[in-house]
Amino acid sequence: MNVNRKSVCVYCGARPGRRAAYAEAAREVGTLLAANGWRLVYGAGDVGLMGEVARAAQWAGGETFGVIPTHLMEMEVGKRDLSTFVVTETMHERKKVMFMNADAVVVLPGGGGSLDEFFEVLTWRQLGLHDKPIILLNTEGYWDKLIGLIDHIIAEGFADATLAGFVCVAATVDALEAELKNGFS
Ligand code: AMP
Repeated sequence: MNVNRKSVCVYCGARPGRRAAYAEAAREVGTLLAANGWRLVYGAGDVGLMGEVARAAQWAGGETFGVIPTHLMEMEVGKRDLSTFVVTETMHERKKVMFMNADAVVVLPGGGGSLDEFFEVLTWRQLGLHDKPIILLNTEGYWDKLIGLIDHIIAEGFADATLAGFVCVAATVDALEAELKNGFS
């Protein structure tokens, strides 16, 4: 095992979404992680964008680390052929194991689950509990409204301006790769 290897936690939709660009970007992310020798940490499902990222990382020879709770094994099709496959009892354990094994967090298009995961790591960062990079992959402007919401929260006095600074936004997968390299240097 390479102790210097970096791990990237990817939060993303358990569905593919309506635009082909989302799945394309997810595959590109899986490939870029493998190409850089970065381990994929994710929710261990074989559905939606989660499956796209993981299969692409595997095909490109990358290391994969997945964490899934028992009750989602069927619904999210637990992907047992990952380099490391961890089954937890609860969602909270899943999130904890994913986060503690990651050096950076990347959020691809997704739904409520991805948002929950994003806000958890963002608020932990706000509280000074970690300093891991948090990067939104804004494929086709998918996260524009979320970025606007964070600006609105700051403008209305419910958070310091530093909150926005904790989130990097990458419009493309190339920009995401640059942000990760920057964060790891
Ligand atoms: P979604 O973005 O809603 O497609 O969900 C993406 C991933 O987040 C899936 O693996 C879900 O199981 C997971 N998820 C859903 N709800 C939650 C939650 N409350 N906390 C943490 N993860 C969740």
